[in-house]
Amino acid sequence: MLFQYIQPEILISKHALKTSIFITFASMMNDSPAHKGQRTQLVQLLQQKGISNRAVLDAISRIPRHVFFDKALENHAYEDKAFPIEAGQTISQPYTVAFQTQLLNLQGNEKVLEIGTGSGYQAAVLYTMNARVYSIERQKKLYFSTKQKLQSLHIRIECFLGDGFKGLPQFAPFDRILITAAAPFIPNSLLKQLCVGGILVVPVGEGDIQNMMSITKISETEFEQKVHGTFSFVPMLQGISKD
Ligand code: SAH
Repeated sequence: MLFQYIQPEILISKHALKTSIFITFASMMNDSPAHKGQRTQLVQLLQQKGISNRAVLDAISRIPRHVFFDKALENHAYEDKAFPIEAGQTISQPYTVAFQTQLLNLQGNEKVLEIGTGSGYQAAVLYTMNARVYSIERQKKLYFSTKQKLQSLHIRIECFLGDGFKGLPQFAPFDRILITAAAPFIPNSLLKQLCVGGILVVPVGEGDIQNMMSITKISETEFEQKVHGTFSFVPMLQGISKD
């Protein structure tokens, strides 16, 4: 009997927590009805382009992408395009963010390693979908500014300045690993840091165009690999930036 009384309260309090996160988002992110309308249109476009995962579309409809933009470009935040951010890097195109996130096949509460924090937008999408996010960035300026921005928005993500090729062995294993820069090869160290049953999503290639790949770890030694079309990312580079 006791169990029956307690259970609904747990559900209600979880729901209340989520709601309060979004009230905070809306009030802190200078969000407006016009922005919300633009997001609804963006979500419709993503659906037309083949994104079907409801949780991914919901996250995109909730997160004010303009907050992750330079002020001068803010008006473009709801176009389905990549845009420049600090340190010569880019905020990925919404379709690409949605596509990669859909490939992760999140069920809720997974521990996710992201390589390439960049603007923090992709990390915010994962966080909104209840993932426990660890994110690595190699550009010092971006690492510091994005970490501060995410903190001020109460988006709780573990940010690291480091080299994504090495991953975070001290926090492994991860249920999912997402690389948001063009990898010249699939880093072995990251495959090692993946749980059995886990999924790595990575654009692979050294030219302007990469193949989007998903790799599922079947056992400690077996992997299943799939290719999902071509995309264009900034390169994944070794080491930490000098300035
Ligand atoms: N996920 C980001 C996309 C940023 S673009 C977003 O939503 O905005 C890719 C990012 O990967 C860049 O910021 C780049 O500096 C970073 N990057 C490239 N090589 C890396 C490496 N070896 N380790 C960590 N980050 C890397």
